[in-house]
Amino acid sequence: MRKCTRCAVDGAPCIVSELSDSCERCYRTHRSCELSAPWSEVQKVLAQSDKLDEQILESQAKILRLRKQKRALVKKLKELGAREEQNVFGLEQDEQAAASTGAPSVPASEFDFSVPVDFPWNEEMATLLDSSSGGTVV
Ligand SMILES: [Zn+2]
Ligand SMILES: [Zn+2]
Repeated sequence: MRKCTRCAVDGAPCIVSELSDSCERCYRTHRSCELSAPWSEVQKVLAQSDKLDEQILESQAKILRLRKQKRALVKKLKELGAREEQNVFGLEQDEQAAASTGAPSVPASEFDFSVPVDFPWNEEMATLLDSSSGGTVV
């Protein structure tokens, strides 16, 4: 048979009277008994539910606080990011300015490709120039 906590602690028999909300011992000592009628049980559950509601509200408030903090951080991060982008943009502008003020409009890379350093044409022309020049001089 189920015992209420007090009877269990006391090691005494827990006898619930049909006429009472409490067990016999609790009734005699005017204590609240957890084996009492459903109504007190309902109140207890309701109290627990209310307590959980409070905790939920507290948690939601905490979540809102944390979200607000995160929004502030994201905002700060965006500000930092914007500054970063401005810096990059500034550097790009500098590079473009340097390129435009530099020599021809032809990009250096394309210029390199048009005349490879090790192209055989140079050697042939060199020998031709050497022989022709030597021939005319001598
Ligand atoms: Zn009892
Ligand atoms: Zn009891």
